[in-house]
Amino acid sequence: MLALCKTAPQVDGLELREVPVPDPGAGELRLKVKLAGVCGTDMHIYHWAPRMARRMVLPRVMGHEVCGVVDTVGAGVSGFAVGDQVSLESHISCGHCRPCMLDQRHLCASTTYPGIDIDGGFADYVVVPASIAWKNPAGFPAERSAMMEPFGIAVHACHEGTGVSGQTVLINGCGPIGLMAVGAAKALGARKVIACDLNPLRLASAERMGADVLVNPGQGGDLVKEAKAQTRGEGVDVAMEFSGSEPGLRASLDSLRRGGDYRLIGAPSHPVELDLTTWLRTGPTIRNIHGRRIWRSWQQAVDLIDAGLVDLDPLVSHVIPLKDAHEAFELVIRGEAVKPLLAMND
Ligand SMILES: [Zn+2]
Ligand SMILES: [Zn+2]
Repeated sequence: MLALCKTAPQVDGLELREVPVPDPGAGELRLKVKLAGVCGTDMHIYHWAPRMARRMVLPRVMGHEVCGVVDTVGAGVSGFAVGDQVSLESHISCGHCRPCMLDQRHLCASTTYPGIDIDGGFADYVVVPASIAWKNPAGFPAERSAMMEPFGIAVHACHEGTGVSGQTVLINGCGPIGLMAVGAAKALGARKVIACDLNPLRLASAERMGADVLVNPGQGGDLVKEAKAQTRGEGVDVAMEFSGSEPGLRASLDSLRRGGDYRLIGAPSHPVELDLTTWLRTGPTIRNIHGRRIWRSWQQAVDLIDAGLVDLDPLVSHVIPLKDAHEAFELVIRGEAVKPLLAMND
């Protein structure tokens, strides 16, 4: 079968290879993959970021935002049958550590990931533990199934803490998950959504997803000023930080009202200093959003899509055959793609 592998420890270092079709062992499923999304994590692998270099053993088949059809059911697996349409949770948790036992499987200390630690879904077939397979409702379209993993993060971000209902919400950083959060926040009753990004293409998508106010600091927009102007000088109730940039992180924190709810989703590439005295005086609650609640975020995400309350289709900018996978990475690097999906078995 054809597979996109990271083969060399360098920038790019990707190779399309013919590899054997894997066989599922006990407790595993084999999927015939339909679509798989290219995301920021894949770009970190492409650029061979230090945190990827530290953990990845090469060659490795990439791809963790995967949907497909169950093709073979391994021994001892119940609840799945050949032909089931599934999406994959990307966090493989151990199931018995303290966070796992306390309904915090997304924070499992031994988390591993398809496409990083085991072979992933940029391939015609993928074998995974059945414990990370999510069965989609009948007739759920493949494009949406392929985006449930990142959409789950956006939904998780909107439900944590004070939620979003009735509140003013800032989404800073309109990559795919930020854009999904715009849609989810509106669907879940946010009173006003302010979207901020440097890329006009992404801001246009934010508007399509329902953002009420658009700010582009690259074209003279001042996020803090605009956030205050939109909230009678108070600042927003909820700020979600997706950009991963230090100036973005500071601006979104400064846009928050006193006692507001700050949710960090985009990981900064380096340690960032925070003034704890200011934090103590202004009282924001700071939360981390890492992955999704398993399976609560999945159910909430599917419900929003199934009810037609969030439409993710405008985010699919490109569907590219696996054999042309390099093109997907180049589109992202050039800032021309929102969410490229790779199509397998076509
Ligand atoms: Zn991802
Ligand atoms: Zn665990």
